[in-house]
Amino acid sequence: MPKKLIEVALPLDTINDASAYDKMPGIGAHPKGIHHWWARLPLPTARAVLFASLVDDPSEHPDQFPTEEAQDAERERLFGIIRELCQKKMHLKQDVFKKAHEEILRHCDGNLPTVLDPFAGGGSIPLEAMRLGLPVIASDLNPVAVLINKAMLEILPEFANQPPVNPESKRRNVGQEWKNAHGLAEDLRYYGRLINEEAKRRIGKYYPTVKVNGKELNVITWLWARTVKCPNPVCGCEMPLVRSFVLSSKRKPNVFTQPVVERSSEGNRITGYEVGEGEPEIKGTVNRSGATCACCGETVKLEHVRKEGKDGRIGFSMIAIVADKGRGKSYLSPDEAQERIAKSAVPAWKPDSSLPEKALGFRIQALAHFD
Ligand SMILES: [Zn+2]
Repeated sequence: MPKKLIEVALPLDTINDASAYDKMPGIGAHPKGIHHWWARLPLPTARAVLFASLVDDPSEHPDQFPTEEAQDAERERLFGIIRELCQKKMHLKQDVFKKAHEEILRHCDGNLPTVLDPFAGGGSIPLEAMRLGLPVIASDLNPVAVLINKAMLEILPEFANQPPVNPESKRRNVGQEWKNAHGLAEDLRYYGRLINEEAKRRIGKYYPTVKVNGKELNVITWLWARTVKCPNPVCGCEMPLVRSFVLSSKRKPNVFTQPVVERSSEGNRITGYEVGEGEPEIKGTVNRSGATCACCGETVKLEHVRKEGKDGRIGFSMIAIVADKGRGKSYLSPDEAQERIAKSAVPAWKPDSSLPEKALGFRIQALAHFD
């Protein structure tokens, strides 16, 4: 087996720079936009490594390159191809891939090897192998990785240069030429919109907006607290179990939420929660050693909380609403309407099989009933 270029030298600076650029967010069309994958191999690295693994180092051909100078010159020519392969916007540079393919073909005497990537992950290696015109087999144990690879390597090429099939585009764009995946993208947009509209029709009522300074904002999440009845007989409130009432400490002042307590001779009652800025009066009500009542200060052992949970007496209250204000989040006090809507979403089905008492490899928390 002749020694390959990668075993002798590589233009590392070029590959490094191109790979750093490839990792940058917002660089336009890029397979990483399909789905997030961890430790994705930069495309220029995959491209350069594949190419340099398939072309011989010039020192292996003294008949053609008898002197060191001749070998250096030839190596420099091969580096030139790698540098071209490390340019930006390679999806627009088919001629460079063609040139690299022909070079590989020459080094393999016309018999291209199949590239096998058994743990393809984000798919950089099989994608670049395909673009270099090599036969490819990719697999992975993780089904998400398989799906990413399938979408990118199988489905996309199958629909390349095809017109969209949705009725709207068919009517509007008669005779238009569809290049690459543009037709498929048009269909994805169309049918994605249909699914979105149908989802809104069916479950949109569970996603109410909130009004902030006259603007309707989408709710990102509702924040909840488990509650348990305070065992102190003169209190008896539904005490919230909250590690910290601080909702955000990203910027000063902090944003926090706090219960609004109504005290009377019959006991205490939490009528709602109010979001404020600064430091909350009560930092939190639960830690490893136990819980504290936010109304009367009674300390409650965790065993009591656990027992209430096991006996199905744990409740829950909305303690804040987090809304999307475009750039950043807005924290709002919960209101009855939001809480009513949230509680109206009742799943038609839930798993009813029992969990193993003792499971190997993971721990099951003591179960509580929530009805
Ligand atoms: Zn209490």
